Amino acid sequence: MNSAKEHADLIKSGLQCYAPNYQPRNVVLKSAKGCEVTDVEGKRYLDFGAGIGVNCLGHQHPLVLDALQHQARELWHSSNVYFNKPAIQLAERLTALTFAERVFFCNSGAEANEAAIKVARRYGYDRDGNGKHVIITLKGSFHGRTLATVTATAQPKYHTGFEPLPGGFRYCEFNDINHLKSLFGDDVCAIMVEPVQGEGGIRSVSEEFLQTATQLCQVHDALLICDEIQSGMGRTGKLFAYQWVSGVEPDIVTVAKALGAGMPIGATLLGAKVATTLRLGSHGSTFGGNPLACAVANVVLDVLYRNDMLAQITRKGELLEAGLLAMGSRTGAFHEVRARAMMIGAELAPPYARQAGEILKASLANGLLVLQAGDQVVRLLPPYVISEIEIQTGLQRLEQALADCNRP
Ligand code: PLP
Repeated sequence: MNSAKEHADLIKSGLQCYAPNYQPRNVVLKSAKGCEVTDVEGKRYLDFGAGIGVNCLGHQHPLVLDALQHQARELWHSSNVYFNKPAIQLAERLTALTFAERVFFCNSGAEANEAAIKVARRYGYDRDGNGKHVIITLKGSFHGRTLATVTATAQPKYHTGFEPLPGGFRYCEFNDINHLKSLFGDDVCAIMVEPVQGEGGIRSVSEEFLQTATQLCQVHDALLICDEIQSGMGRTGKLFAYQWVSGVEPDIVTVAKALGAGMPIGATLLGAKVATTLRLGSHGSTFGGNPLACAVANVVLDVLYRNDMLAQITRKGELLEAGLLAMGSRTGAFHEVRARAMMIGAELAPPYARQAGEILKASLANGLLVLQAGDQVVRLLPPYVISEIEIQTGLQRLEQALADCNRP
């Protein structure tokens, strides 16, 4: 069968067989290496999306392949009925590197947040019974798609049709300190914050807001939960984005995406106050702490702390930001470029307003994979291992895509 026909047939089948909750682009990817992805027809694309911030070491990183192949010959799965070595090592390293005393492993961001929500509820319960169960989240946030995490996600468009939603969530205006103060009380067990909102359009929570949240948590004996599922694991040039703000010490941090560089894994990092809040039998996950995923996550930590990787991430982020700013001046396409190292959003200006989807399509035609955050922001989350030449090539392709979109 010729490859164009095979490609078209596969897309047709995908559209027929998948539940229609996604709108995949008209491309079937087959293989990938480094920062390039290839479709079934052999067309190559530069990957500026990294599978939504996941493939932080690009594709087929040699150390990841080695670790995966080695682990595949040892042990694939054990469940949490038994210990396994890669998971113990990963938990030890995550606690040694962070505020955390203990770690709960799971498989995804939503699951890591679900655990954080349960820990917070149980913490409140242990202090004041059911009277202390409210969790504050921020408007524009994104915390996942399970019923509890979608309720934590303060965006009504994700709620419609799934009511009744679990109760006990309060939504704060983004970066509005007075509103935050008005929402806090002794019935609050936690505030959950993305230090940099990802799906919300790469918007940073202000230092003052995070510091005020920390203080309010102290006053009301509540927990600060940082959702670092998108912003964590080096994406902003530090292991976690909250570390850019002085005086902020979370009680819980949730991680997923880049933690596994493509292997599904999530983790809920638990500080001193909640290290033992999850009692025996109170929570669990069959695949959590899977040896294959943990072996790869150990490699991610190796690479992050080798060869000044965090500094490289910052430098590459600056290159991308400078390139986008220059592109914005040439084309008038961007109202604002918001960059936190390699977590970047370009908010569109007229005549491109609300055309993020069209720009994604045109980028694909030009051999570039990018992401959107809503219909107004083109989002870039490239692999950390991208080269400067690839950055320049990707930027040129994006500019060509903008030109193609603007043609009458
Ligand atoms: N939290 C944040 C900040 C995210 O960006 C995402 C996913 O985009 C999630 C939670 C949910 O993660 P997952 O899709 O792995 O469940």
